[in-house]
Amino acid sequence: MAEKQKFDVAVIGAGPGGYVAAIKAAQMGKKVALIEKKDLGGTCLNVGCIPSKALLSNASLFKKFKEAEAYGIKAEKLSFDFSKMKARKDQVVSKIRTSLGGLIKSNGITIFKGEAKFESPKDLKVLGENSAWIHAEKIIIATGSEPIDIPAFPCDHERILNSTSALELSELPQSIAIIGGGYIGCEFASLYAEFGVKVIIIEALPSIVQTQGKEISAALTAAFHKSGIEIKTHTAVESIEKKGNGLVIHVSGGEKIAVEKAIVAVGRRLNSKGLGLEKAGLSEGPKGKIEVNEKMETAVPGIYAIGDITAIAMLAHVASHQGIVAAANACGQEAYIHYHAIPAVIFTHPEIASVGLTAEQAKEKGLNFSVGTFPFQALGKSIATMETEGFAQVIADKKTGEILGAHVVGHEASALISEMALAINNELTLDCVIDTIHAHPTVPEAWLEAALLANETPIHFPPKIKKM
Ligand SMILES: Cc1cc2nc3c(=O)[nH]c(=O)nc-3n(C[C@H](O)[C@H](O)[C@H](O)COP(=O)(O)OP(=O)(O)OC[C@H]3O[C@@H](n4cnc5c(N)ncnc54)[C@H](O)[C@@H]3O)c2cc1C
Repeated sequence: MAEKQKFDVAVIGAGPGGYVAAIKAAQMGKKVALIEKKDLGGTCLNVGCIPSKALLSNASLFKKFKEAEAYGIKAEKLSFDFSKMKARKDQVVSKIRTSLGGLIKSNGITIFKGEAKFESPKDLKVLGENSAWIHAEKIIIATGSEPIDIPAFPCDHERILNSTSALELSELPQSIAIIGGGYIGCEFASLYAEFGVKVIIIEALPSIVQTQGKEISAALTAAFHKSGIEIKTHTAVESIEKKGNGLVIHVSGGEKIAVEKAIVAVGRRLNSKGLGLEKAGLSEGPKGKIEVNEKMETAVPGIYAIGDITAIAMLAHVASHQGIVAAANACGQEAYIHYHAIPAVIFTHPEIASVGLTAEQAKEKGLNFSVGTFPFQALGKSIATMETEGFAQVIADKKTGEILGAHVVGHEASALISEMALAINNELTLDCVIDTIHAHPTVPEAWLEAALLANETPIHFPPKIKKM
């Protein structure tokens, strides 16, 4: 291997955490190395957010075509070619990856293709296409995560898939079991059900998308039942048997479920193994996570960790934001991260989005709060576009009116949540939303109406009858 190359900042992993951190550090005038063992863009771009949403956009369009008659449009002999959809998904990923490579290089960042390992707190060995020794004053770990494999039924990536191999399917099965009803499992369930695949979700917990709170979980469960998705909760998979061309899934209680394929979506394994953390003076936390403070500093001065590897909130936009904070601190500024306004979206049909506290969490904290829930059935734009499923909900402090949480089930949820993320991040109140003129007719008017309801001054909704 050639001589040691010196950098101000080295970033391990080029996912949405790592590449954003690298760009921020480069913009601050630092000499930056970015090391990636697989593909630029990490999980998010290559096997996560982008490919899954590319496929889900096909499902949304197909749904619209199926409903076209109600709009007075005839879409007869409707059919689809899933292999073309998969090919389009691959093109989307490859196009973004190419642009990302250009963007990183345009910032003067040196990319190393290979696997990085610590040799000391400031030294890395890179093995791969661009093998190298790197010395960096500051190192940012952004190694992300990968799908968990369950030893009792490991993925063979043909019949038993994980989220990565599921994205490679060019042909749809007749039936599929989704093991794990978290957001990744539910997005796949929604995608396949739209194209007529018989879908069953098997979840060990009492409900699907449990972390989103009872109301959201109940709304998605009802919508899934309506679209023919079967849901088994309180049910654990014990083993999977290969039979004929399909699978027989043995679940708790002795039941056997026959399906063609299964996707295991039960969680993610953190990529801390093989990083040589001990040589950096770091140790793995529970389940391999790397502990950090609010400046994204690890226990070793000069080493930072961001993104999924910190297991704080395993979302791409959180990884990117942590990357900005870590890079700023690594470059001599003082930056802190706050997690009270993280928007989270589930791209099912209907879409789900939330930010801040749920009503259950506000109750657990002993807060005195009001809730305004406005159904899309009562919103002009939703009625006009025939997208009346779901609601927008605001949770606010009863005394100060400060918005504490917001939740949406329904169309445009993914776009709608940004207004509330901005509101919560800036400690805005119900009055701030009410005093803001919202364009008409638009779906964001639902926030105005929900805020008015939380304030007990509804305009487009009947007032509550006050008890004397
Ligand atoms: C199917 C699916 C759908 C998802 N959808 C969404 C969504 O809609 N919205 C959302 O916010 N999040 C979504 N996520 C989660 C999101 O992808 C992750 O939270 C995000 O990618 C984490 O970013 P990261 O930078 O921490 O790590 P990653 O994106 O995992 O990137 C880490 C990179 O580090 C590299 N690496 C690891 N070890 C080394 C090493 N030793 N040397 C060099 N390189 C190394 C890896 O190859 C990888 O490229 C989804 C995930 C999945 C699986």
